[in-house]
Amino acid sequence: MKKQQFVVIGLGRFGSSLAMELIDQGYEVLGVDRNEEVVSNMSSYLTHTVVADATDEEMLRSIGIRNFDCGIVAIGDDIQMSIMATILLKEMGIGTVVSKAISTLHGRALEKLGVDKVVYPERDMGIRVAHQLVNPNLVDYIELSKDYSIVELKVPSSLDGQMLSDLNPRARFGCSIVAIQKPNGCIVAPTAMDQIHTGDIMVIIGSNENIEEFEESVN
Ligand code: ADP
Repeated sequence: MKKQQFVVIGLGRFGSSLAMELIDQGYEVLGVDRNEEVVSNMSSYLTHTVVADATDEEMLRSIGIRNFDCGIVAIGDDIQMSIMATILLKEMGIGTVVSKAISTLHGRALEKLGVDKVVYPERDMGIRVAHQLVNPNLVDYIELSKDYSIVELKVPSSLDGQMLSDLNPRARFGCSIVAIQKPNGCIVAPTAMDQIHTGDIMVIIGSNENIEEFEESVN
């Protein structure tokens, strides 16, 4: 299957790190920025780079923007530029358009333009760090919806050697352990007889309320 091709507009801190991660994962990435120095710093990392103003419609057409599967508008601070670049990517018919917002109002404007996804990197990272500060065992989490999440929790020493049947989170708290990451591999869909040890990571799915109750009980 043909690998997806990405175009990242704006190679600031967010755009450049996103572009490099896509490259690390084996995808082709075209990086576009109007700042020549920024582009020259990134040119050796990305598949292609172009110095261009993302609001220059002719230029975007000439570099074949419409052929990309996914376009990411990573311009944040200049809201006018972010909105204009987003409109052009949408109009050119790129399959998926993702735009970065720096405020709720900016995000709402982007949603009105019909982008497929609005991302709020600063806001989301702030929330993530706050969660990790109040729960040192929290490794990471994914919000499935407003009320449900998947959470990665480090096993505290108080649970060392316990079997999942001892913990019994489904019956006690209504949430399930769907995987256990161990130093030598991952147990997916563990059984009641599987044991956890200090430092393992439990992957738990459930409502935020139930997961919180479970977290509190093991701390
Ligand atoms: P971050 O906070 O992620 O560093 P910034 O908004 O500060 O994001 O940086 C965005 C990048 O987008 C900058 O490198 C800037 O040169 C680039 N940029 C801004 N406007 C345009 C535009 N119209 N066309 C192309 N690149 C742009």
